[in-house]
Amino acid sequence: MGKSAKRNGRIEKVGSLVFEIFSDPEFLLIFTEYGYYFYPIVFVLGASFGSFYFNLAYRILVYHYSPMRKEFSGLARWKQILLSPSECENCSEKISGLRLIPIFGYFLSRGKCPHCGYQIPIIYPLGEISFGFLAILILELSGNPLVSLVFVLFTGHLLISVYTDAKYFSLDYENLIWIFFLGCILNLLINQKIPELNDVFVFFGFLGFFLAIYLFYPKGIGFGDVLFAPIFAFLAGHPWWLLFLNASYIPAVVFTVLLKKKGASIRETPIPMGVYFCLGLFCTMIAKLVFLKFGWEIGSDVDG
Ligand SMILES: [Zn+2]
Repeated sequence: MGKSAKRNGRIEKVGSLVFEIFSDPEFLLIFTEYGYYFYPIVFVLGASFGSFYFNLAYRILVYHYSPMRKEFSGLARWKQILLSPSECENCSEKISGLRLIPIFGYFLSRGKCPHCGYQIPIIYPLGEISFGFLAILILELSGNPLVSLVFVLFTGHLLISVYTDAKYFSLDYENLIWIFFLGCILNLLINQKIPELNDVFVFFGFLGFFLAIYLFYPKGIGFGDVLFAPIFAFLAGHPWWLLFLNASYIPAVVFTVLLKKKGASIRETPIPMGVYFCLGLFCTMIAKLVFLKFGWEIGSDVDG
């Protein structure tokens, strides 16, 4: 009891020290002035996290949703997901040596498994490259490597929700905790302040709205959406929830119309709203950083 309290105290101390360092304008001057010196390493780190999260999302689908989920449970399942070596999706042959390196590994094996010839989906190298550029973009916008790191982790967890919702129309509550936690840290770093009462109102507004839809049209949305939408709107905050809502619903409508099968009615096409909520929140967070970078303000009440 005393030991863990002492340890928690130490974690808190380290946490506030890290926060202090990474919000010190003099320290951050290095990155706002000379950020491009760090581009190569930031790209490699971003791509590595991208590789980790694409792999994690894939494994969560396999070990939590597919028939394979019955093979492991509890801690053994997470051990399998997080610690088992990388292998071919098709023949389970272990991937070793240089082929493990993000992006480079794909080109080294010419996009194919050397064992069974399985075509490795192009989404992997493309995803890794995107994460690398995302890390650079966020460093450039925020001038803060800690914001860049947290943003990349945050995006990784959004990616997991996109995967599970797109494939199984299911949103993972365990993952929502990660999104909430990382989103709060991100907001703290960006705004330098804790959420305000307005943000809490946004949360309850969305909760009431989606709960009502769920109760009256249970077929329209899943219960996952009832929880995800208010928490995402809370992370967007006031008045950014307006952008979040539009950046979720406009692509949802556009893509549903474009992707719908010929002859199928829109009303009967199931829409993975979680995918679009993730997209909306991602765009909103980027927009926050863009506004901050250029010193723009929205509305007169933003700064209170
Ligand atoms: Zn293979």
